[in-house]
Order: sequence, then structure tokens, then C-alpha cells
Amino acid sequence: MRRQRKAKIIATLGPASSDYNNIKNLFLAGADVFRLNFSHGEHKDHAERYHIIRKIEQELNRPIGVLLDLQGPKLRIGTFSNSKITLKIGQAFRLDLDATPGNNQRVCMPHPEIFQALRPEINLLLDDGKVHLKITKCGQDFAETIVISGTELSNRKGVNVPDVVLPISALTQKDIVDLKFGLELGVDWVALSFVQQPSDLTIAREITGDKIKLIAKIEKPKAIESLNEIVALSDAVMVARGDLGVEMTAEDVPVMQRQIIRTCRNLGKPVIVATQMLESMIYAPTPTRAEASDVATAIYDGVDAVMLSAESASGDYPIEAVTIMDRIIQRIEKDPLYQKMIDDSYTPPATTIADAITTAASSAVKIVGNALMVNFTETGSTTFHAARERPHCDILALTPNLKTSRQLTLVWGTHPVLTDNIFSISQMVEAACNLAKHENFIPAVDHIVITAGVPFGQTGRTNMLRIEKVS
Ligand code: PGA
Ligand code: MN
Repeated sequence: MRRQRKAKIIATLGPASSDYNNIKNLFLAGADVFRLNFSHGEHKDHAERYHIIRKIEQELNRPIGVLLDLQGPKLRIGTFSNSKITLKIGQAFRLDLDATPGNNQRVCMPHPEIFQALRPEINLLLDDGKVHLKITKCGQDFAETIVISGTELSNRKGVNVPDVVLPISALTQKDIVDLKFGLELGVDWVALSFVQQPSDLTIAREITGDKIKLIAKIEKPKAIESLNEIVALSDAVMVARGDLGVEMTAEDVPVMQRQIIRTCRNLGKPVIVATQMLESMIYAPTPTRAEASDVATAIYDGVDAVMLSAESASGDYPIEAVTIMDRIIQRIEKDPLYQKMIDDSYTPPATTIADAITTAASSAVKIVGNALMVNFTETGSTTFHAARERPHCDILALTPNLKTSRQLTLVWGTHPVLTDNIFSISQMVEAACNLAKHENFIPAVDHIVITAGVPFGQTGRTNMLRIEKVS
């Protein structure tokens, strides 16, 4: 079973998609990677879904990626004695550290470290920006504000502070516990929320080592200031438009989306566009024209993956959402303008041996025509470089490493397959041809362009290109 498209689909699991049948149907409809969102749910729910995915993986004999999304330092207010309050524009409203339930004059914001970073004139956005407060006066344990907009506030709503770099790491105590749980479980990717600076990645890497690949979620304006360094330190990046759209104006989001995509494609890091892609499909079986166009835009820009959140996790039409996404991607990738836009946005690679080989492979594909690229890869690194080239062909990634095969499900154009180790060039050619046949690339292609590293069995050594005529 093989996808008929280059860009991948990530589907978030949740109450609407937690049993065997639902998850299997999401996979069959086109979900390549499943996201476990640790902002919601108990460890046992996530573990249950994880094991269902692995069961389906085994039954269908296809690697499936699992992405653990950490909640990160999402700030929240406390509770109100009547669960919710109404606010008047222009009124004063106080945030403090007093845990007693709030009223329409004050509420607790249980984050002592945040008060120290606040200053008069700073904006606070609550409940995804629906409530806007401006600070008038503040101290070590309180902030007096004035209500600029918004009329209703209820228990535990989120707080965004777009104007300042908060003195907090992208990993909270909860995240560290969740991350260790995920490592134990065997997830393939971990997403860090609210990354602000390059050191957030290094801190996470100290816990994970190279056991797992890290995704930086770009959802703070501050992260844009050191975007290059953050992307360079990440294994992949997510344009997390939900929180980004709270922290920036709506018109800034598409600008940042393109800037992030370009940076990632240039540096050869997979890039994901997330949030509200098919938002109306939470309640409706078909998307709006604008949503279809939003997915299309990301595909024309050459992203590796598009993501569904509530659409697949808690909506009424999870399968339909994946099906529609799959259809939109296939349609766009057939448009001759798609190929032109991908080619026009090409940037030259880094000056490494691996890049020299994958660039040569991509160029060989163009010259011989109807071809398949085959990468022998241990860590997946070669395929990241190969996909960076956005070659005019599919990439068959052959790896003896199960984790690598699962991680590569996120990467543009890549069909990963788990194989045995190879020890010689003749074995390499034979395995490439056999698997190309087995995975139904042949007879549609008549050349295979193989990359590998000799001596075999050592990592980080891609240094060989071999072209084989297969018909
Ligand atoms: P979230 O991240 O769904 O975990 O908030 C995505 C986003 O902010 O867009
Ligand atoms: Mn977010």
C-alpha cells in the first residue's frame, strides 16, 4: 500500500478517533503520522492509542509515525467562584497569586515567574485572544490591568504574553514527565511547544539524546528572531498557527508561514503547517473554499506535511477530513504549476558529501526521466537531504532501523520500507530492484537511482550513486 502523493498528512487523535476501527480508517484514508496531544488526556489514553497504532502497523506491514506533542509552558488563569465572569471594556481587572477563586475584579494567575517579566503597557491575551488586557501597574505578585476588549472569561483560560520573552524553558515539569513517558512508549517524534530560543532545543536534547527526533513548534514571535538557529537545531518544524495567530496579528501569520517554510526547505528540515486547515469540518462533512485553498497554498509552497487537530481528534467528520486533505494534495501535485513552483523555490544545498550525492541523484532523475530514487539509510539523514532537493520522483527509503522507517513517514515524497542490512554492491542493487517491484514502483519507472554509503553498515557515510535500468 502506497500513497499517491508527496506531501504527508498528520492526524491528531482524540475522543473522536481513539478506537481500533477509527484509527485504522484514518490510516487507510491517508493519515501518515498520528499526533498524540499531551495538552489533553491521561497517559493511559495515549498509551492505548499508541498500542492500537502499532497493531495496525503490524497488520498492514507499513511503518506509521507517532508524534508526541508536549503542552509546553501554556499559561492559564485559575478559576472563578461562579465558573465565569463578565467584563466591561475599560474596567480594571487584577491578576495575582492568591489561589482563592476569582470574581469580576480579580483572578489568580498561578505563575510567579511571569509576574517578574511583566511591565506597564504590556498586553495580555486571554482565551485565544478573545480577551485583551493591558497592564497599568505591576509588582512581584500582582498585575493591575485595564480591559481593552472581550466581555467574558471563564475558568482556566489560556494567557498569551506576546510582548516579552518569558523567563521559562519550553519544557515544564509536566513536559519532562510526559517526554520520559513518550520515550519509554517508543514515540518517533516529539514536538516542543512555545519554543522561544535555540537553547530550548538543546535543553530538550539533553533529555532525549538521539533517541528521538525533535520538532520545534513556532508559535511565539520571539522565535522568529532566531529562526535560523532554531531550525538548524531542530529535526523538523511546525508552523503552529493557533497560538501564533494569538501572539501576532492575523495578517502576520501567512507572512511568517512562508518565511518559516522557506527557512526549513533551505536547511533541509521537514516543515509542517498546522491548525485550522479544515476547521469547519469539525461540524461539516465538506470544507469551505477558503480552507481547500489554504491546504493548497501550503502544498504549492512545498511543505512536507499538513496537520489536522480538532478536525480528526474531536470533530464529527474525522475520516472525511483526512479524505478531503488527501484529495486536495493529490490534485495540487498534479498541477503543472505545482512542479514549477517547487522548482522555482529551490535553493542550493550545503557543501557536504551527502548533499553532493543527493543533489546528483536528483539531477540524474531529471536526465534519465522516469525514475525512482532509492536511499539506503540508517538514521534517515540521507533521505532528509534527498527530500530537500524535492526531486521529480518518489523516494524509496530503505532502512534496517525500525525507528527511522517510522520517522521518515513525515518526510516529503518518501516511502520508507524496513529492510535487512546489506553487505555488498550486488546485494544493494538486487534489494533496491526487488523492493521497487514489491512496492509497485515498477513497471511505472524504468530507472532506479540508488544512493548508499560504502563501506556498508556505517552511518553518516553516503558517498555512492548508482543508476540501474530496470526495463
Ligand atoms: P496546539 O499547537 O494545538 O498544541 O496549541 C498548535 C498551534 O498552536 O497551532
Ligand atoms: Mn499551540
